[in-house]
Amino acid sequence: MNGKTLLITGGMGFIGSNFIHYWLAHHPEDRIVNLDALTYAGNPDNTANATQLPNYRFVQGDIADMQGVQLIFQEESIDVVVHFAAESHVDRSITDPQLFVRTNVLGTQCLLEEARRQGVSKFVHVSTDEVYGTLGKEGLFTEATPIAPNSPYSASKAGSDLLARAYYETYTLPVVITRCSNNYGPYQFPEKLIPTIITRALQNQPIPVYGNGLNIRDWLYVEDHCSAIECVIQSGTPGHVYNIGGGNERTNLEIVRTILAELGKPETLIQFVADRLGHDLRYAIDAGKLQNELGWRPRYKLEQGLKLTVGWYLEHEDWWRKLMPQTASNETSDAAADE
Ligand code: NAD
Repeated sequence: MNGKTLLITGGMGFIGSNFIHYWLAHHPEDRIVNLDALTYAGNPDNTANATQLPNYRFVQGDIADMQGVQLIFQEESIDVVVHFAAESHVDRSITDPQLFVRTNVLGTQCLLEEARRQGVSKFVHVSTDEVYGTLGKEGLFTEATPIAPNSPYSASKAGSDLLARAYYETYTLPVVITRCSNNYGPYQFPEKLIPTIITRALQNQPIPVYGNGLNIRDWLYVEDHCSAIECVIQSGTPGHVYNIGGGNERTNLEIVRTILAELGKPETLIQFVADRLGHDLRYAIDAGKLQNELGWRPRYKLEQGLKLTVGWYLEHEDWWRKLMPQTASNETSDAAADE
């Protein structure tokens, strides 16, 4: 095979699995090695279509296990690393912050270190706009916005961003950092806001909404995140940060109402619950650098992406029903989620 070999970490999760589908469809000459620990968020069903392909290999392993990571780099000649693996749920970070530091900070350092030893042509560190903290009513996050994380999740992501930056500055490892707004789309674990709304509405269960529901998030359809990462792999400048977002700011309540209307379900299902600790008020991304320098454009408007997402969950009831016991704690804690 003449193509590149990509190491995708966290490829059994939501965005990682969408990225694997996207990459295999657009770059069939390339080979993919998917390293994933299969935590509660990792689901082999997400990549079931890829398992038979000769250019796809899954390795179950922990990114914080240095020896395991070394073995993969010895066995495979890795050209590009796309690092998605993380503990990703803010609520879980509030109850178990140490796990987030271990996976997100230590795990990222293991990957950076081995990529440095073996040499790669690019290391894409997939991060989040949450590292910037929160915005007031005005303004947008740019790449120059100071990092000011407010949750253990965002603090652990910020720590990993800084390590990624340091590996570029110190060792000239060709690192590119992406900071994306909230994603939605197929294969998203039903503890996050949009699949929570869809799956609960379909079961006529109450939909918990934090506080007054007026927190604002900037939503991006997951396929647009995948195309942005493709752009960064192909033309991103090492050492640079690229914000990714679609300019789709909505309150959580607007999102809930749009989905209920799409499903023909009543707004009486909405149930306001006590606010999340340290709940950021507003995230909004300025993706101008990615658009102007690399020519990236999002394809999907929010309403279109939401229709596709609702359609996907309607068609894949067997996929999300299997995961329901794992999200049972949500039903008792009444916690809703943003990311
Ligand atoms: P996810 O929770 O759906 O998937 C995470 C994956 O990482 C899972 O498959 C899990 O098994 C794996 N994993 C966890 N710990 C691991 C370890 N120690 N070793 C190997 N694999 C491990 O997350 P997601 O929503 O797909 O997010 C992917 C990345 O994108 C994360 O880095 C997240 O911070 C970032 N991000 C997410 C969003 C969003 O809206 N979901 C937005 C911006 C950035």
